[in-house]
Amino acid sequence: MSSNGRYDVIIIGSGAGGGTLALKLAPSGKKILLLERGDYVPREKDNWDPAAVNVKGKYQAKDVWSDAEGKPLHPHTNYYVGGNTKFYGAALFRLRKEDFGELRHHGGISPAWPITYDELEPYYTQAEQIYHVHGMRGEDPTDPRASAPYPHPPVSHEPRMQQLSEDFATQGLKPFHVPLGVMLDEKNRQASTCIRCETCDGFPCLVNAKSDAQVCAVDPAIKHPNVTLLTNAKVEQLLTDPSGRHVSKVRVRRGDVVEEYSADFVVVSCGAINSAALLLRSANGKHPRGLGNSSDTVGRHYMGHVNSVLMALAKCPNPTIFQKTLGVNDFYFGSREWEFPMGHISFVGKLDGVTLKAGAPPIAPGWTLDLMGKHSIDFWLTSEDLPDPNNRVTLDPKGNIVLSYKPNNEEGHKRLIKKLEALMQQQRKCDMHGHECHQGLFSRNLFVGQRIPLAGVAHQNGTIRFGNDSKTSALDRNCKAHDLENLYVVDASFFPSSGAVNPALTIMANALRVGDRILERL
Ligand SMILES: Cc1cc2nc3c(=O)[nH]c(=O)nc-3n(C[C@H](O)[C@H](O)[C@H](O)COP(=O)(O)OP(=O)(O)OC[C@H]3O[C@@H](n4cnc5c(N)ncnc54)[C@H](O)[C@@H]3O)c2cc1C
Ligand code: SF4
Repeated sequence: MSSNGRYDVIIIGSGAGGGTLALKLAPSGKKILLLERGDYVPREKDNWDPAAVNVKGKYQAKDVWSDAEGKPLHPHTNYYVGGNTKFYGAALFRLRKEDFGELRHHGGISPAWPITYDELEPYYTQAEQIYHVHGMRGEDPTDPRASAPYPHPPVSHEPRMQQLSEDFATQGLKPFHVPLGVMLDEKNRQASTCIRCETCDGFPCLVNAKSDAQVCAVDPAIKHPNVTLLTNAKVEQLLTDPSGRHVSKVRVRRGDVVEEYSADFVVVSCGAINSAALLLRSANGKHPRGLGNSSDTVGRHYMGHVNSVLMALAKCPNPTIFQKTLGVNDFYFGSREWEFPMGHISFVGKLDGVTLKAGAPPIAPGWTLDLMGKHSIDFWLTSEDLPDPNNRVTLDPKGNIVLSYKPNNEEGHKRLIKKLEALMQQQRKCDMHGHECHQGLFSRNLFVGQRIPLAGVAHQNGTIRFGNDSKTSALDRNCKAHDLENLYVVDASFFPSSGAVNPALTIMANALRVGDRILERL
């Protein structure tokens, strides 16, 4: 084992949290080491090939985890510079102001955060700048206050999405343009980095036009001579000094070689599941239940959102290329008939026959997968799941990840699906095709829905929650471990509740906030 020098800060993981923090700390001139278990996503034509990406899972992590019953779980997650943002759909939402307070759901209580929306607001604004967010303030009725306009205009709807948006508006809803992190210049398409293609959500961007953490944060951070990135560097364990109050060494495997690094501050940002696993693997005499786990909360309260894809199969084709532009939050906090939060409606990237093969949805009678892909409008519905201490990450005797999860708070989600189906049944006649464009081929509308399974850990969060009470949380309000002086966590682990919008912008904003706290101590 070799010992490889001392740094001011070591950041473990280069995704939404770790990559953004590296960018924040880089101008300080302090010696920063960014450790990433993966490599760069290779730039190749397969980046945009649905068969390579979705059917063969070419870029998916090769880890095998297990569920509570010991069944193997092949997690849909990605280990690369930039983390899962290399593959994300770049829908960059702020949590709602109310998400920071306690909210009563049908299935129980969504607990309050130890910080308010107002404390995070300036950092949301910074994150929107760094990640080139395109959007339109004031359209989404649930949007919180913002201190600045979006840095870029909203991404326009293609005709079918525009029509759907107008139909929703006619039905009394307030559809909005989804805030998106893509480097698209619609006024000058010739010069635009983003070409607005159909292989965005779930795919790496071949032309580096997606606002991911590699392009927007890690690449500019490592231009600073004081920032070093080591790829293919998997952190296996954190060691403490004899007092147990400081992380003294970071043990890293690089191929066959194990190395140790040390720093004044160590920041864990491996993604919510891997970060919890790393702390559990780092148990020692002073931390018998896992590092920083005197509260016994590390690994617990796993949340991943209650997510569904709902395909509305329509009479006429849906030629949309870039489908993720439209959202509806009118039922986020409930409806006239239902007093509890239901969630968020938006879209996945346009599904095609090849991709559908990988997901194997139930085939509608008389349809092929290709035909379904050509005619479907592909909704993404997200509802909040609640932090249950028994939904948790543990380790098997070999140190491999076990993810135990029992769904909760499902009633609101089921009602959200029903609500959307009812809305789609009532669509007006289509100007483009002269018939009920959004309605099904049959007399009744046809929907094919699929809940995202446990392996779909894209929105993982909550496993190392922050809070004011060291008995019920592992991190303090600044995301420093209650039990240690120099250990921070900045990935999605810190969420005490998950809200029902996509998590990445909140992770990025919080990393910027924590960055300020670390800078004060450097
Ligand atoms: C297909 C897909 C679509 C998505 N779409 C959206 C979207 O539209 N909007 C949105 O807000 N969110 C979206 N998400 C979720 C979003 O990508 C994540 O919430 C976000 O990336 C999580 O950030 P993180 O910092 O917690 O972890 P990650 O971004 O996953 O980063 C963790 C990093 O740590 C590295 N790592 C792990 N273990 C170790 C170790 N032991 N040693 C060293 N390095 C390690 C990993 O390789 C990775 O690079 C999507 C995710 C996926 C997969
Ligand atoms: S839509 Fe734009 S950002 Fe997304 S993959 Fe295509 S070119 Fe890249």
